Amino acid sequence: MTETKRPFLPFVKPDIDEETIQGVVEVLRSGWITTGPQNQQFEAELSAFVGGRPVRAFNSGTCTMEIGLRIAGVGAGDEVITTPMTWVSTANVILEVGATPVFVDIDPATRNIDLSLLERAITPKTKAIMPVYLAGLPVDMDKLYEIARAHELRVIEDAAQAFGSSWNGKRIGAIGDIVSFSFHANKNVTSIEGGALVLNDEDEAELARKYRLQGITRTGFDGMDCDVLGGKYNLTDVAARVGLGSLRKTEAITEQRRQLARLYFDAFEGGAAVKLGVGLPVENFTDHNWHMFQIALPLDKLRLTRAEFMAQLKERQVGSGIHYPALHLFTLYRARGFKEGMFPHAERYGASNVTLPLFPGMSAEDVTHVVKSIDEICEQFGHNG
Ligand SMILES: *Cc1c(COP(=O)(O)O)cnc(C)c1O
Repeated sequence: MTETKRPFLPFVKPDIDEETIQGVVEVLRSGWITTGPQNQQFEAELSAFVGGRPVRAFNSGTCTMEIGLRIAGVGAGDEVITTPMTWVSTANVILEVGATPVFVDIDPATRNIDLSLLERAITPKTKAIMPVYLAGLPVDMDKLYEIARAHELRVIEDAAQAFGSSWNGKRIGAIGDIVSFSFHANKNVTSIEGGALVLNDEDEAELARKYRLQGITRTGFDGMDCDVLGGKYNLTDVAARVGLGSLRKTEAITEQRRQLARLYFDAFEGGAAVKLGVGLPVENFTDHNWHMFQIALPLDKLRLTRAEFMAQLKERQVGSGIHYPALHLFTLYRARGFKEGMFPHAERYGASNVTLPLFPGMSAEDVTHVVKSIDEICEQFGHNG
């Protein structure tokens, strides 16, 4: 099976360079370790990255979405339309603000919310849309905002995975309504844990700042007031310094990921996996940041479960992940009336997706090995009848 023992290839690996490590040491020695000058610098450089729009940094990409909803005025009695094919936090934050998540099935090709099904999910209670750019591939932004405008809906973009992606050459975050990014350790750009919210104007940015830290505003030497119910969502300067180091390499990271994605497509071409019906992502090397390279297994043509397929990959020193199961089938959502059969494309993809290794620093030979392993498994366990 395995020739000489290769080192294990994880599906993701954070890359913190020496300069950033030194920068963190300086922050630790500076006497100011929580939210301060590094956070301010991080926000300034993030803002420059998205064309000068106001940006506030937070300690997760989950709280950014929740606060984005609050700023958009979403609350009890409102419906928010999103996709069931996402990390569960997208829907959880809708519940968190007291609103109701309404799911729309995915387009099986892009694996993102099917915009052609979106309008029929709109009701008089619909207040906002939360699109998710799975793996970093944006939806058709022209179509999305055309629908939002026509129905006067707010959009809170879950762009957690799409930092560095663009739409027709315009960066995600530089366009649109409220845009939420995550800088979790597995994301393309990371502050270990963290997130950012791109806002429309200084009023929204000020509200975001308040929600981030207990709703507090300070004036003069001794003045303090609290006029909104905020939380504890501020980013430490240590994390912000890690984020800065990563952010400054965004272009290089994105380019390396695109190059690796290209190699994946080349390696898969004409092989046993593709012949058996393994589903590949949409090929896009201009707008896509390639946060993930995900395949869909043709489980009806494999004498293996997905878990067994992943175990076979692991035997060949290849790590893999699942992003994600269809979230409406989780207990919390079943309890709200969701069940099998409601969103068949998301359910099928949720049961069959496998995330392959993809991170800067991976070699062309690593990609070849991953695809060779998948072809081998498909030859050994596949049946075309
Ligand atoms: C990572 C992620 C989040 C949440 O980000 P955190 O920083 O982990 O809170 C939300 N949505 C999607 C699609 C994600 O991938």
